[in-house]
Amino acid sequence: MSAEQTVTGIQGTVDAARAVFKSGATRPLAWRLKQLKAMNQMLLDHRDDFTAALAADLGKHPAEAWLTEIGFLTSEIAHTVKHLEGWLKPRRAQVPLALAPARATTVLEPLGVVLVIAPWNYPIQLLLAPIIGALAAGNTAVGKPSEMTPASSAALARWVPKYLDGAVSIVEGGVPETTELLARRFDHIFYTGNGRVGRIVMAAAAKNLTPVTLELGGKSPVFVDESVDMIAAARRIAWGKFMNAGQTCVAPDYVLGTDAALAKLARELPLAIEDLYGAEPAHSLAYGRIVNDAAFGRLAGLLEADLAPESGSSLVAGGGTDAATRYVEPTVLHVDAEAKVMEEEIFGPLLPLVTVGSAAEAIAFINERDKPLALYVFSEDQGVRKEFMEQTSSGALNFGVPVAHLSVPGLPFGGVGESGMGSYHGQHSIDTFSHHKAVLEKPLSPDTLGFIYPPFGSLKRQL
Ligand code: NAD
Repeated sequence: MSAEQTVTGIQGTVDAARAVFKSGATRPLAWRLKQLKAMNQMLLDHRDDFTAALAADLGKHPAEAWLTEIGFLTSEIAHTVKHLEGWLKPRRAQVPLALAPARATTVLEPLGVVLVIAPWNYPIQLLLAPIIGALAAGNTAVGKPSEMTPASSAALARWVPKYLDGAVSIVEGGVPETTELLARRFDHIFYTGNGRVGRIVMAAAAKNLTPVTLELGGKSPVFVDESVDMIAAARRIAWGKFMNAGQTCVAPDYVLGTDAALAKLARELPLAIEDLYGAEPAHSLAYGRIVNDAAFGRLAGLLEADLAPESGSSLVAGGGTDAATRYVEPTVLHVDAEAKVMEEEIFGPLLPLVTVGSAAEAIAFINERDKPLALYVFSEDQGVRKEFMEQTSSGALNFGVPVAHLSVPGLPFGGVGESGMGSYHGQHSIDTFSHHKAVLEKPLSPDTLGFIYPPFGSLKRQL
């Protein structure tokens, strides 16, 4: 497609989405439920195609593809379908006595056309999960999958129009197409990805005063102390870290602990990795691959720098790579805070362990850096848990398990500060993709407002 054709195509897509919204068709509950059920049907009818695409793009195991993408979406749809009618009911607000009699409600109304821009690491989930919310709230949507996962992008472009025609359009492409999209007016832009592009999205949205949700990333820390069952903690940390070969926005990025706690953890992590992926993870179907050569090169570069003899780091597990298959072995390394891996989000299967003197020192370490998307604390000490709860800020705070908060549909999913703004999932998606309209109804008779009208005679007597 030439650049000119792309521009015309994109404008036509946005115009069509707006025309459907303006027709009023999206407002009834029945339309919204129909779209959600159609998306569900699409996921079930073409589960094999989506699964194959995820395997081609990221080497995802079919079970992981179901748990973290396709099945994740069908659960989100089921939850939304079940509760949507209740969520859309006008929410009563209390009326001050001086205004009585009157009725005050918050009424949710759809915004219009929503643009959803998705990244590559969970390419199906992260495109469709926001769209579930956008449709449930009565909007139409334009979805832009990541160009880095072309098989998943093509599968979405193949099936979405067949099931959701008029409700959702897919625009495939990379930076030029996204730039074109961002030059159009939308009523909400929902972006998942990195903070650099997040800033580009927000600047483009500002031109039209379009509200944005930014689901960004960053380093999500873990704190572990000696009070926990270290075998269980190691298994959970390894599971959260190495799923999707570490390419998860809420993956544990690094672990903080005292020397003693990290020594215990370092003994258990290699065993946990072997339990999950066998002695040779390269031969395990359950273990994924790095998305492309550039990402592989970045991770291999980090390993090389931090495993150099002068680096002061030591290898606890793994360390192997294979450029031809973009394989990076599940790797654990003991580093100091200045190591290369500690500079930015790792987004791959390298897990640094960093020694701190105490829980208080770990909290100070976290607070000196950007606010994380997620923070994971493994401690049975209620005092320590309270300190993390009260003295740190993060998108989510989990005790005893990483990543799993995503699958609690009642919890808002989103970041704070550098890890993003706004949230979604379940009812939080409906709130994100709706305008919350204040509605006040007051009978004209009796006119109880006489005392506030000028010339304030009756009011003066009361003041
Ligand atoms: P990516 O490179 O696929 O980019 C995301 C989207 O931005 C793509 O659709 C891409 O086409 C578009 N894009 C890229 N450059 C652009 C530009 N210059 N102008 C306009 N659009 C552009 O994905 P990524 O950013 O590498 O994703 C990884 C990051 O996303 C990590 O930081 C990760 O933590 C974060 N992430 C966050 C969440 C979350 O839910 N908070 C989920 C997944 C990933």
